[in-house]
Amino acid sequence: MTNGKQLMTPDSLKRLREWFKANVAELPWRLADLDAPRDPYAVWISETMLQQTQVSTVKDYFNRWMKRFPDVETLAKADEADVFKYWQGLGYYSRARNILKTARIVAALRQAQGPCKMPETRKELEALPGIGAYTAGAILSLAYHQREAILDGNLVRIFSRLYELDFLPTDKVKERRCPSQNKVRDDRSGMTKKKATQSSAEIYWEYAREVADSPKAYMHNEALMELGRTVCKSRSPLCEMCPLNKECRAFLDGRTIEFPPAKKRTEKGWHGTALVIESADEKILAVNGGQKFLDKQLALPHFESARHATAGLPAKAEDYINADEVESVHHCGTFRHSITVHKIECDVLHVRLSTQAKDTHLPKPKGNSEKPTAFEWIEKAKALETFANSFSLKALKKVF
Ligand code: SF4
Repeated sequence: MTNGKQLMTPDSLKRLREWFKANVAELPWRLADLDAPRDPYAVWISETMLQQTQVSTVKDYFNRWMKRFPDVETLAKADEADVFKYWQGLGYYSRARNILKTARIVAALRQAQGPCKMPETRKELEALPGIGAYTAGAILSLAYHQREAILDGNLVRIFSRLYELDFLPTDKVKERRCPSQNKVRDDRSGMTKKKATQSSAEIYWEYAREVADSPKAYMHNEALMELGRTVCKSRSPLCEMCPLNKECRAFLDGRTIEFPPAKKRTEKGWHGTALVIESADEKILAVNGGQKFLDKQLALPHFESARHATAGLPAKAEDYINADEVESVHHCGTFRHSITVHKIECDVLHVRLSTQAKDTHLPKPKGNSEKPTAFEWIEKAKALETFANSFSLKALKKVF
């Protein structure tokens, strides 16, 4: 474990900035002038999209999004289904939902207080739906050029290697011995004193704050993100090209492979059945809410089921339709999908009804978490463009 000596000296930060200027990649959310403050709205959208998603994937999503929703006001007036369409494929739909909620809050503030941009303090930003410590730091440093820190996976990897930190910010260990130089200010006495212990996350944030404690915080933050993405890669860091290789402990000790420690990820397997219920007049039944996945958005009915239990109409299907109205049931295949930590394997049943949509008896929700809260019939011909989630689209494509 590190002795806590700050390795990011003015000289190493200067090397980092020079490396960034010489190697900066052109990205749609970056300006040609690296010292120019960015549009806080664009920073917010791009950084939210970039969470859990590769830069190469986000580029097109970002361009499409900014064309359709160029500013907070336009976004605030959009409906959720439209927003989901432009988010479709990025996963984590709660992020899209939160973006819309926040846009409406910010737009309402603008109306009430006159022209203003996104909030300019960490406290106000972090109070908005979906904006956490990382996104707030990105908006404040990249758009408002404040001395605010960020900490994402790239920076965690770099700090872990630079200082040989053998733990992750998310590690459950509540308190650790802090690096010897770490000091905290006692608000009551105004004195600076050594702190005995810090949580794992606090140690990482402290290193991030030290890097950001500069008028060039915006560039240090972004340069580290870029360094993590292109040089200090997870599997094979390109240390010979790294501007920080003179001080990086893991590199100097030949131990880069050991840092950061592997994340203890607990993936959850889930096997289920998705229903493509088609009425006699070619409409598809969609549900909104109350499902295992994709809550509060239009989705195909789905429920947990045993593997390969695909003969006939499963009893749980009667939560959605009346068995007396079923004309035929066909198993159309299985698809795999991931939602957050869930590794999904799903059978797809095509259920044809003998009744027209308007005459079909839809049972009332019975109140457990897998029951639908609202039903909607969708024209079969428009189904592929109506659902805005990959789960439903994958199931539909097994049938049509
Ligand atoms: Fe990462 Fe290597 Fe640079 Fe260290 S020297 S920060 S391990 S790329």
